[in-house]
Amino acid sequence: MKILVINCGSSSLKYQLIDMNDESVLAKGLVERIGIEGSNLVHKPTGKEEYKEAKVMESHKDAIELVLAALVDKDHGVIASTDEIGAVGHRVLHAGTKYSDSIIVNDDVKKVVRECFDLGPLHNPANLIGIEACEAAMPGTAQVAVFDTAFGMAMPQKAYLYAIPYEYLDKYSLRRYGFHGTSHSFVSKETIKFANLDPEKCKVIVCHLGNGASISASIGGKCVDTSMGLTPLEGLIMGTRSGDIDPTVVQFIANKEGKSVDEVLNILNKKSGVLGISGVSSDFRDIDKACAEGNERAIAARDAFIYRVAKYIGAYTAAMNGVDAIAFTAGVGENNAEYRKLICEYLTFLGVEIDDEANSHRGERVLISTPNSKVKVVAIPTNEELSIARETLALVK
Ligand code: AMP
Repeated sequence: MKILVINCGSSSLKYQLIDMNDESVLAKGLVERIGIEGSNLVHKPTGKEEYKEAKVMESHKDAIELVLAALVDKDHGVIASTDEIGAVGHRVLHAGTKYSDSIIVNDDVKKVVRECFDLGPLHNPANLIGIEACEAAMPGTAQVAVFDTAFGMAMPQKAYLYAIPYEYLDKYSLRRYGFHGTSHSFVSKETIKFANLDPEKCKVIVCHLGNGASISASIGGKCVDTSMGLTPLEGLIMGTRSGDIDPTVVQFIANKEGKSVDEVLNILNKKSGVLGISGVSSDFRDIDKACAEGNERAIAARDAFIYRVAKYIGAYTAAMNGVDAIAFTAGVGENNAEYRKLICEYLTFLGVEIDDEANSHRGERVLISTPNSKVKVVAIPTNEELSIARETLALVK
């Protein structure tokens, strides 16, 4: 079966068409600047020339129509008709407390996605438009919602509660959810296989270190804690997000700078993290370059980022009373050997020992700990699209 994976961001749409017989990617692409001047499609069919098209796209509905046209085009297409698409898997940001697993879309599912607009104001509306546009373009084809919050729903109450009046949980479902769920789920499962761990009992920590960064602890593949909260702002220091912060900082900046709460939250989401500390960039490659040139604020940003990851690994080891494997994934986790090494230097108390030669590999699935290490440490490239396609196939086959 061929499965189309759709990931609608606030103004973008990423897609992949995957042949599930061998999990090969038939085509993938990206639409950017939806609803903004200069919208365009970059379509990459496997084995054929890349195709680019600039076209006004007012909404995600226009984008989906352009993507489907590209997939069936006689020159740069990869299928003869959309009838060949057996199902569509949609990445959906937030399901509140309603769903803890992926689900075939029906009217109730769409209602829940709509009810969660408050919890995911940038993504859930785009996700719903994406679902409805695919329903309209491919009537009768199963649509599956794969929620970014699903993995974190297994967290026990002690991990998801905020210590605020309980009525807010009852009234507004105000609690910790966690995000990057498809990545944490995929990488924890792959780590279990790759490191040959007991699938029922193994204790795994996954560090998803990209522009957005989060960390999860799972036992037997079930999440026991994860660092993002009600929104993806909580937890690790990220490219532009502050991660954990005393809420009073919001009030302090608002009062001193004459800003509204929304304006301060915008700063914490878009102008903080390693960008905010360094003043250099949100991209870790730029941070590294500046560090190499001796830029003190870039060094401060890098050190704070690494320290926060190590601190969370310590906390999650305590939460699980042990750890069998630590996995690094996403842009930085997969590629940046120096960061992996610096993080692991904090973990010698756990018996973590890194093999420098193995750790020099980039972007590959590799065991980077020595045979003597008490904890297996791996780098595993994440593949959120494949994870969504697998979830979709499991529901529709
Ligand atoms: P992601 O959000 O997973 O796409 O990760 C983006 C981050 O990964 C950026 O800050 C990049 O600097 C970093 N990154 C991506 N590729 C590399 C690489 N080859 N070496 C070092 N960092 C990388």
